[in-house]
Amino acid sequence: MSKKKNSPFFSFTSTLEQVGRSIDAHPDIIALLSVPQKVIEVELPIEKDTGEIAIYQGYRVQHNNARGPYKGGVRFHPNVDLDEMKALAAWMTLKTAVVNIPFGGAKGGITIDPQQLSDRELQRLARRYIAQLGNNIGPTNDIPAPDVNTNSQIMAWFTDEYSRLNNHHEHITATFTGKPIALGGSLGREAATGLGGLTVLQEYLAQTKQTQSNLTIAVQGFGNVGSNFACLADQSGFKVVAISDAEGGIYHPQGLDIPSVIKAIQHGGKLDRNLCYPKLSVEQAGSSADDSCQQISNQELLELKVDVLVPAAIENQITADNAAQIQARLILELANGPTTPAAQDILDQKKIPVIPDILANAGGVTVSYYEWTQNIQNLYWSEKAINSKLRQKMQESTRDVLSEQSPSGNLRQAAYALAIRRLQQSMLLRGWVRPRPQDTAGHSLSH
Ligand code: NAD
Repeated sequence: MSKKKNSPFFSFTSTLEQVGRSIDAHPDIIALLSVPQKVIEVELPIEKDTGEIAIYQGYRVQHNNARGPYKGGVRFHPNVDLDEMKALAAWMTLKTAVVNIPFGGAKGGITIDPQQLSDRELQRLARRYIAQLGNNIGPTNDIPAPDVNTNSQIMAWFTDEYSRLNNHHEHITATFTGKPIALGGSLGREAATGLGGLTVLQEYLAQTKQTQSNLTIAVQGFGNVGSNFACLADQSGFKVVAISDAEGGIYHPQGLDIPSVIKAIQHGGKLDRNLCYPKLSVEQAGSSADDSCQQISNQELLELKVDVLVPAAIENQITADNAAQIQARLILELANGPTTPAAQDILDQKKIPVIPDILANAGGVTVSYYEWTQNIQNLYWSEKAINSKLRQKMQESTRDVLSEQSPSGNLRQAAYALAIRRLQQSMLLRGWVRPRPQDTAGHSLSH
């Protein structure tokens, strides 16, 4: 087991073992979940536009398929390494169990800053990755999706390459989710993680009898997840006061006009911190220029005094180094693994609840499941129907996690406990481990 500081896989295994002990999970189940079932490492040579060959490192980690085919995104990022891939794959196993969809967990990635490649180079790299994975992926064994720095265009190249390699046989579209609508993608998938996260937040506030009106929110990361969440939260009456990308953020105590921010990014290609986007009332809009806009660093964003802090970028953002300075009243983890175990302990002491990633960001994989289902049956649903099913699923899952929470435990432990119980049931039924007297596999062979 990797024990390097802030190792995401160590974060996973330490929480797994702690929760496993606390719910008397079968030790063999915990042992099986502590290692991925399969690790695929591939070298990816591509021809650059200059004619030179560059070689990149790619991964696909298939963590567990006790509950269904492996499922998980593909990330293109310079920090991609085996430890990160193993953790992200394991969290997918838990996440699909928390929202009770018939998938296991996997994750893939390439160690690359995609901004360094031209579009043509990126396409060659995407195709080479799929060719190297070969039959390790497919609609009934492992179904990749977008993650950091990958999108529906990359899924389109993946789909085309996979179809080519497999003689265009049927159901090929069901090998990937997060595809463009024109290639079998699902309505609602693009915004699903954001909408799922907002639904979890609203359900949590409702169940814990807290007001929702005018709560202030800071969102770290303004990609697919962060921007869709911010937009929907803004429409639902929350006040988004701060947002950021990898280079830093902007803050306005009265709230930001999120649609204007998104429009400006679409126009300029990135977040321009020199511009201010205050959400002004009609009276304020007519008055003199607003000078309350501030440029802030990502560290400052995390430490803002807001009602809800939403990390929606990458891992290890709330650590032992900054957790004591967090002033938010509630944390909604839309990124995977943004909080280290040491930081979680500090937040527990400060009584700041953390709605964990494996619940909060599960809306994406939930609509991926709906996309896969639509592809397999070749029957497509309306956006309204998908959003309504998604909201219902996230509300139910939030209530399931809340009812699993023990008086002394936190929400992450509750979500892990729920997932471990469901995984244990599947693994016992499959006969992967021998039941102990206290384990009911649901079926006995002896009469
Ligand atoms: P994305 O590539 O669309 O956006 C990532 C955003 O994070 C960008 O704004 C980027 O500038 C910012 N960022 C990167 N490094 C940063 C840093 N060090 N500090 C601050 N900001 C930084 O990715 P995404 O799909 O929005 O994914 C974001 C997170 O959500 C990831 O942790 C991902 O695993 C998780 N997630 C994504 C989905 C999905 O459906 N896309 C589903 C579940 C979870």
